[in-house]
Amino acid sequence: MRLLLALFAAVAVAASTLAHAAGPQQKGQAPGWYRMPLGDFEVTALSDGTVALPWHTIMKAPAARIQAMLAQQYLKSPLETSVNGYLVNTGSKLVLIDAGAAGLFGPTLGKLVAHLKASGYQPEQVDEVYITHLHGDHAGGLADAEGKAVFPNAVVRLDAKEAAFWLDAANASKAPAEMKSAFVGAQRSMKPYVDAGRMKTFDGLAEGVELVPGVRALAARGHTPGHTVYAVESQGAKMVVWGDLMHLAAVQFPQPDIAVQFDSDSKAAVPQRKKAYADAAKKGYYVAVAHISFPGIGQLRPDGKGYRWLPAPYTVPAPAGK
Ligand SMILES: [Zn+2]
Repeated sequence: MRLLLALFAAVAVAASTLAHAAGPQQKGQAPGWYRMPLGDFEVTALSDGTVALPWHTIMKAPAARIQAMLAQQYLKSPLETSVNGYLVNTGSKLVLIDAGAAGLFGPTLGKLVAHLKASGYQPEQVDEVYITHLHGDHAGGLADAEGKAVFPNAVVRLDAKEAAFWLDAANASKAPAEMKSAFVGAQRSMKPYVDAGRMKTFDGLAEGVELVPGVRALAARGHTPGHTVYAVESQGAKMVVWGDLMHLAAVQFPQPDIAVQFDSDSKAAVPQRKKAYADAAKKGYYVAVAHISFPGIGQLRPDGKGYRWLPAPYTVPAPAGK
């Protein structure tokens, strides 16, 4: 009996110790990288962070309708929104598709390079950077706070129409006041690469232009004048990196015709989105989307008048050499 009492006492002491053991909440998040194989290639999704956006005022539909669609998925605007880039290692080239925002949109973004390093790579190793379009949340991360190239050995490629629109001094000077900062940001981001002769443009085609073996640029203009998506293919596996072909999953999968205010040309952007959705759903390949919750990789199925998003199953690839 005495032994039993002693045992109870010991358990009680242990329990009270546990009750006081909680440290302060640690906050933060695991480094934002997510890796998956794609045929012989390796894709690493890189989070640039998240930013709260007032989608009920950004979407071209009544605010109440947007909030109701969000509520269907237990969401509410303003909504914490991911900004993602994608690193593709083809075995012969290391290609980064979109570079995040750096400091252009506040302290909750600009984490892409830290996450690239956490994933085992260095910015110096990046051979090529492909830009879907020159908005700040996709190209801002090309230059650091001093205006130097973040990817010192990389060639930056983009559609010639995108470069011509944003990097043209006359276009910038005649832009409406609310657009000025977008021009300034695009020009600042590209400057170190333009100065070093490391900006290379291509003439975008809807049927695609191969940039390195296994990676093609496909013109998908509308969101911006030279908006481009990139198809990555290896051994029959395929992923298309969509950039801003779409923004808000909870609204634009069920209703693909709802556009965003910051499309350069919504009349062109909406059919591009519908065409891309239909192709992805028909063929079943992966898509990787800049503003779908990180890692933003999934597949589509037709669902009523719209589509259903099927996030890629979680995977832990075998370590190198195993
Ligand atoms: Zn964007």
